[in-house]
Amino acid sequence: MSDFAKTFIEKSSLKSTDKEHSRKINFNIDKYNQTVQTGKTQFRNLNLARQRAKNIKWRALETLDQQLEQFELNFRKRGGKVIWAENAKQAIEEILKICDEKNCKLLVKSKSMVTEEIKLNEALEHHGIESIETDLGEYIQQLDGEAPYHIVTPAMHKSKEDVAKLFAEKLGTDPNLTPAELTLVARTILREKFAQAEVGVTGANFILSDIGGIAITENEGNARLSMTFPKTHIVIAGIEKVLPSMQDLSLFWPLLSTFGTGQMLTVYNSIITGPRFPGECDGPEEMIVILLDNGRTNVLKDEKQRESLYCIRCGACLNACPIYKNIGGHAYGATYSGPIGSVITPHMQGMEDFKHLSFASSLCGNCTEVCPMKINLHELLLENRMQSVEEGHVTFTEKIAWKFWKIAMMNRSLLNKAGEKIKNKVAKKGMKAWSEQRSEINFSPKSFNQLWKERKKSGDLP
Ligand code: SF4
Repeated sequence: MSDFAKTFIEKSSLKSTDKEHSRKINFNIDKYNQTVQTGKTQFRNLNLARQRAKNIKWRALETLDQQLEQFELNFRKRGGKVIWAENAKQAIEEILKICDEKNCKLLVKSKSMVTEEIKLNEALEHHGIESIETDLGEYIQQLDGEAPYHIVTPAMHKSKEDVAKLFAEKLGTDPNLTPAELTLVARTILREKFAQAEVGVTGANFILSDIGGIAITENEGNARLSMTFPKTHIVIAGIEKVLPSMQDLSLFWPLLSTFGTGQMLTVYNSIITGPRFPGECDGPEEMIVILLDNGRTNVLKDEKQRESLYCIRCGACLNACPIYKNIGGHAYGATYSGPIGSVITPHMQGMEDFKHLSFASSLCGNCTEVCPMKINLHELLLENRMQSVEEGHVTFTEKIAWKFWKIAMMNRSLLNKAGEKIKNKVAKKGMKAWSEQRSEINFSPKSFNQLWKERKKSGDLP
């Protein structure tokens, strides 16, 4: 078992029995479930909208090389720069190089999971650059020294009282502040940082190849400030974020907001096509887009897994997942948690280390049901399981156990002969880990098959 798997089991066992954690998560997910119904009313035919969106992403991914080249060509025409990064290391090196050139001491960052993926904050800190998260949820998490808990709502596991206590500890504020007062505290601190920062970093919700632009969606306006106040704006985006046309946003923006937060439309939606032009009153002097692979082409080359790249990171599958609701986002030990994280992480970070995530599923299919992109998440989890076995990531004991299981299951008379005692003994020994968390397995004295035969003989059954 990998160290990641051991940590996963330890953390998830702890969280699943934490009633306070469960109360906070269920409270927030219940609120989400109510509002998402309102967002859905804006679609006359939601199913058709989802299918169309899936088709658009299918086209974008099937022609990814052309789409990205078209984006680069168009973006460069308007004065932007494009850097291609094969992995996290290359992306970090490029960002540090830019920061060095700009003599950057302070960098403001808007919410971006891809920067979590490459561990940007740690790298910047290591090089003496202060990096400030400007999304309120991310700022709370940064103050607390924690990674985001959820891909859309990073501090979902904290109550307003938790946040007030955290601000009091870290910033010396009154521990009884209301959410509005806490927001004002963060706002005052962050405004200063926006004005002082030399570099702003954002992610991209979508890369628009036809106009050479990026689209960013947010609720707080902090992304706009991060990309317009500092003189240099760096965008870091996974290569799968492509949409062939700006027109596609008319479908993707409402889908993302509805399934992400239940809003009809997110508050701020920006399209940026390059740095500030002479005569324009705002915008950065320089804009650089880093196109990141970091394992995405591994997913792309697999015809079945490819559809996981259609993901628009709305977080709906996390909110619907019984496993996520019980163990929370941190137990996964990966940047992307929940069903989508369990599907892509083994491909992006290694099957051997992360195959266990694909087994952390009840396979209820709720994730597939709610996904706006109609990604067959539960089937992809099964695919991962199969692939991990085919690649040989199975212990010798497990192999032997399944061998015996197969022999027994294919031989009814042998199974009947074993009797209650032997079956109980084998199950208790062989499934020790299972029984630790559940009631004991007790076989009945007679198997169903034996009972059936007896009742048939006595004439009880036709
Ligand atoms: S897999 Fe689907 S539901 Fe999950 S985050 Fe991505 S788009 Fe949303």
